[in-house]
This record gives sequence, structure tokens and C-alpha cells, in this order.
Amino acid sequence: MEKKRPPQKKEYDKIAMWLLNMECNFECPYCFYDDSQRSLKTRVGDWVRERIPAINPYKTRFIKADEIGNFFDKTDKRWWIIISGGEPFVYPHFIEVVKRLSKKHLITIGTNLSLPIDKFIQEIDPKNIWSFYVSLHLGERERKGSSADELLEKVKKLRDAGFRVEINFVAYPPLIPRFKEIKDKFSAEGFEIEAKVFRGVYDGKSYPDNYSEEERDIFYDSIPSEIDKAASFENLSFMDVPCTAGKNLIRINPNGSITRCPHDHENLGNIFTGKMNLHDKVKKCRVPYCKCTIAIKAGCVDFNKRMSK
Ligand code: SF4
Ligand code: SF4
Repeated sequence: MEKKRPPQKKEYDKIAMWLLNMECNFECPYCFYDDSQRSLKTRVGDWVRERIPAINPYKTRFIKADEIGNFFDKTDKRWWIIISGGEPFVYPHFIEVVKRLSKKHLITIGTNLSLPIDKFIQEIDPKNIWSFYVSLHLGERERKGSSADELLEKVKKLRDAGFRVEINFVAYPPLIPRFKEIKDKFSAEGFEIEAKVFRGVYDGKSYPDNYSEEERDIFYDSIPSEIDKAASFENLSFMDVPCTAGKNLIRINPNGSITRCPHDHENLGNIFTGKMNLHDKVKKCRVPYCKCTIAIKAGCVDFNKRMSK
């Protein structure tokens, strides 16, 4: 039998960054979505929302696999759909959604990979799954009784099943001393760990500005590209520079609304109404800051025209 493998070329016409949900089974201290009750809400919310839709702390609306499949198919374009959350694997019928979308489109899934993946492996062919983008979240993983070793076994399983796996480690100050040990452990099995900077306040100091030189040296070379490095430590701006976001790239939010990108909230439609009004021409960026490394790396905007503030 031919071995299954991921696509070798990233072929697509347009990009959709789909923030699927905000519910998550983890409670990382540096999460953008600060909510100490979150995992309780996730469990109770899943049960209640089906019955009383008004009780919905994150305003997530659930879409069915065929609805979202038809939404993208009718554009007659091949989309690279980058799904993140929250935690996508807690979304109802998530595997069906991926199965339907991956018939015609290219998929990336951002996940903490803490939930079971056997069913996903059985049901999904890797041929249209560009990658899993796995966040290690070491402290929270261990707090929940799991470990880096357990994650390593899971990513090996995914790789054996033909999926491409990328792994990232948030350089949260108390975890930096463990970065090298973890990097070496995964590297010995053929996985590179990418570092992501922590944004926020720890021990009264704000980051990334307050990393010491020693701390930075530990993880800096593991930030994967020049674009990621710039977006990590500078305030990038492309104000008034032409950007194809809105035409070739969209952001979909948990309530279904479609916006130009994560920073420009111009409304371009909603997946639940099936309407999408993409720009027909390239427009200038009109927001002061951009951290959208996906748009920059995809060439939506010219990185060389950046201003750093
Ligand atoms: S896994 Fe991601 S979404 Fe979930 S709590 Fe951690 S940072 Fe937030
Ligand atoms: S440059 Fe960045 S912030 Fe501006 S429109 Fe493009 S993706 Fe959005």
C-alpha cells in the first residue's frame, strides 16, 4: 500500500484564517483570552448551548461541515484554510468539518494537541492537510498531568500517519530554562521546535521588552524567520502600504463574521449568511500595526516597506 503523505507544494488561490472558537481545555497563564472559568465554561457551554443558544460566553456559532464546505466550494477557488482557536478539537464535529473542507482545500490546524487524535488519523487523508501547528504549552500541559514525552509520542503518531507537524514553544519566562532540554528531546526524534515570544506581564515586568540578554540568547535562533523575528520584537506597521488582505486573505471570527485581516475589522460578510464581499482591487493598509505574519509571509504586503515603531 502506498504510504500516505502531506502535500509537497503549498498550492492555493486565497487564504482564510479561521478563528474557529475561543473555548479551550487549557488555561495557559499567557492566553490572549483571559478567562479563569474557561474549561468549565467549555464543558458546560457545549451542553447548554445546543439547548439555549443565548447562553454562549464566547459567542461561538457552530457551523456544519456541509455548510462551510459549500461556502468555500462555491467561490471556485482553492483556499488555504488555517484553523485556530481556542482549541479546535473541542469544536463540535470538528473532524467532519476538516474532512469536508480537505476534499478541495488545503488545511492547517493550530492546536495544543492534548485531546485524542486516533479518530482524526483514521478519518482524514493527509493529502490536503498542509500541517499541524502544535503549541507545546509546557507548563499548562504538565499542570494537567500530561508531559512533553506524551506530546512527543502523539506527534510521532501523526507523522507516521503522513501528517506534517510543526511545534512551537512559548518563551514564557519561568519556562525558558527548560527550552534547550525540550528542543534537544524533540530534535533527537527529527522535530524542530520553534520559539514564540511571550507577550504580557510576568513578575511585574512586561515582555518581550524585558527579556534579559541571556534569556533571549537561549531561544532567539529558534524563532523561524526574519519576519517572525521582526514581528516578535518590533511594532510593525504597513499603514498606507498596499496589501492584498481583503482580496486574497480573510479572517473568519467565532461569530462567523469575515474581516479583512486580524487587525482591520472591515466587515466583508459572514459564513452563516453565506455572503462574502471580497475587495476586487488591492487596497492600502489602514490600521497602525500589523502582526499578521501569515499575510506578510504570503506576500500580501511587501515586508521591505515596513515601518517599525
Ligand atoms: S492552548 Fe492556546 S487557546 Fe488554549 S489556553 Fe493555551 S494559549 Fe489559550
Ligand atoms: S498590512 Fe497587515 S494589518 Fe494591514 S491590511 Fe495587511 S494584513 Fe492587515
